[in-house]
Amino acid sequence: MAEIYVPERNWAGTYTYQAQKLHRPRTVEQVQQIVAKAASVHVLGSRHSFNDIADSSELISLEDLPADVLVEHEAQTVSFSGGMTYGNLIKTLNDEEVALHTLASLPHISVAGAVATAAHGSGVTCGNLATAVAGLEMVTSSGEILKASRGEPDFDGLVVGLGALGVVTRITLDVQPAYEMKQQVFEGLSWKALSDHFDEITSCGYSVSIFTRWGQTNDQVWVKSRIDEPDRVEGNLFGAIAATVDRHLIVGLDPTLCTPQLGRPGLWSHRLPHFRMGYTPSSGQEIQSEYLIPRRHALVAIETLRALADKIRPLLQVSEIRRVAADRLWMSMNYEEDCVGIHFTWKREPDAVQEMQRQSLRSTNAIPTLSVCWSGSTRAARFATHGSRPACLATRKEGPQAACEEWFDEKRHFFCLFPCLHARSRSRLSEQRMGE
Ligand SMILES: Cc1cc2nc3c(=O)[nH]c(=O)nc-3n(C[C@H](O)[C@H](O)[C@H](O)COP(=O)(O)OP(=O)(O)OC[C@H]3O[C@@H](n4cnc5c(N)ncnc54)[C@H](O)[C@@H]3O)c2cc1C
Repeated sequence: MAEIYVPERNWAGTYTYQAQKLHRPRTVEQVQQIVAKAASVHVLGSRHSFNDIADSSELISLEDLPADVLVEHEAQTVSFSGGMTYGNLIKTLNDEEVALHTLASLPHISVAGAVATAAHGSGVTCGNLATAVAGLEMVTSSGEILKASRGEPDFDGLVVGLGALGVVTRITLDVQPAYEMKQQVFEGLSWKALSDHFDEITSCGYSVSIFTRWGQTNDQVWVKSRIDEPDRVEGNLFGAIAATVDRHLIVGLDPTLCTPQLGRPGLWSHRLPHFRMGYTPSSGQEIQSEYLIPRRHALVAIETLRALADKIRPLLQVSEIRRVAADRLWMSMNYEEDCVGIHFTWKREPDAVQEMQRQSLRSTNAIPTLSVCWSGSTRAARFATHGSRPACLATRKEGPQAACEEWFDEKRHFFCLFPCLHARSRSRLSEQRMGE
């Protein structure tokens, strides 16, 4: 088992891990030994988080564990090791002619990391990626193995664990028969059309994403439709015109990095992500942040952000507006509430983004209504230290809100509209404040 010090950086190069050791176990037994001995340890996934959520004094990479992918057609599940990426998993799923219900914008990320942070794609009927989890096997802080399946008590509290509950060594996901999709891009959607027809637009395909730079109109609407479902768009989309050539979601970048458009049919795995495997997703030179907002507050949030457009736009590459269906996973941002994700891909200018945030805070009275309930941030990640019982296990009987309060109280007053340096942070509008 290799144990080396590597000063790893995250994918975007915006964060340097402080860990002193990176373990590369080849067996689950080795994982157990490492965790039992370590004073403080986290798993390093595919390093796509923009903050320090994966950091600790020691890190474990599960990339050297055997993938051991097993598709069970009768049970409609696939199980595999905790180090797998979606990109690698998809190869087996396609060979076996089965599919997942959703994917994030890119297939490069690890399944366990995406699940731990409730990563999501888009779709009014699509829960986040963690909702596909039917079973987990994890090594807890004492080095013991815990197995849990959907339906068992507390399972819903384990799935979205922010990497704090243990090392997930094996995951079982729901699968369904493979399906084909096509995607079409519509350009120039007006803000009025979006506001008047928000639900119709966001449900005009199986998966819909709106890309905007908060200008006069929205740049693009990407509509991903299943071939086995009737078409929901005929001609234009509430005044937005169908593109006649492939587009990159960041205007001006090379569209060949993106999945095929123009209604060309293809496998689910080649249409659900925006970015193709094997190419650099997004722009690479960026920081990102995202807010998950209950659907009922989405239009207010969009208006609030439009009022800040002049401040946002100079530092922004693109924003994406998506839908995520409600779930029952305690730490999920979509817990019992259909949500709208408002995502920002910023230029890699953290100081300027932070300064813009400070100025926006001073210049707008909108901020108090955008208080933070959730943020996948450092404090939660610290609870995976060896020997200390994760806070959510201690408080889980009181439900997710109690766990949330305890974990995030420290951060609640710290994060604000643009948590630029904690760019993976996500938030929900505080209902209490919205009610004021
Ligand atoms: C270009 C780009 C596009 C993105 N697009 C999307 C998107 O469309 N939708 C979306 O929701 N998010 C998106 N993200 C964010 C990404 O999904 C999350 O950051 C996710 O956490 C990435 O997983 P990771 O393994 O790379 O993260 P890491 O930073 O490596 O890990 C994230 C967390 O998971 C934990 N973890 C990882 N593996 C395990 C394991 N085996 N056991 C226990 N804990 C584990 C880590 O300890 C850490 O706490 C994007 C990010 C980038 C850079």
